[in-house]
Amino acid sequence: MIIWDILDYGFFAQSLYEYYQCSSTDNAINLGLDAIGLFPGIPALGTLRRIDDAVDVTKKADTLQPGPFAKESIPAHRGKPTAAEQRQVNELMEKNGCHTCGTKNPGTKSGNAVADHQPAQALGEPKEFFPHCINCARRQGGQVRQEKLKRGN
Ligand SMILES: [Zn+2]
Repeated sequence: MIIWDILDYGFFAQSLYEYYQCSSTDNAINLGLDAIGLFPGIPALGTLRRIDDAVDVTKKADTLQPGPFAKESIPAHRGKPTAAEQRQVNELMEKNGCHTCGTKNPGTKSGNAVADHQPAQALGEPKEFFPHCINCARRQGGQVRQEKLKRGN
């Protein structure tokens, strides 16, 4: 049934896109499930290769600049946000979602959004706070380290 394979490709493409936007466990599971749906259409090995490629792309997703969901920010400074600033960042998270992946679930124990310094304070003078989810905040930590190595400091 060609039609089902076409539908499978649609679901797979959607999952791939969501996984690329936010490499959360949920999205990885969705991607895996939709990949299984592709098996009748293309060889399994080809599907596995595609997943490898998708993971590579995710590693390259840039958190070192305002992301695709960045709409509004508040003025930033070095160090932690004040309580009032944290409230504003939480409001932006509820309204616009994580600026990198778009999720409205911060994923933190406290339920607070992570106030993301842009640019990251390790790389320059922060100008804006954007709301981040915990997954994107963690990924940014690794990318900041890599960037610092690249810059040689
Ligand atoms: Zn995120």
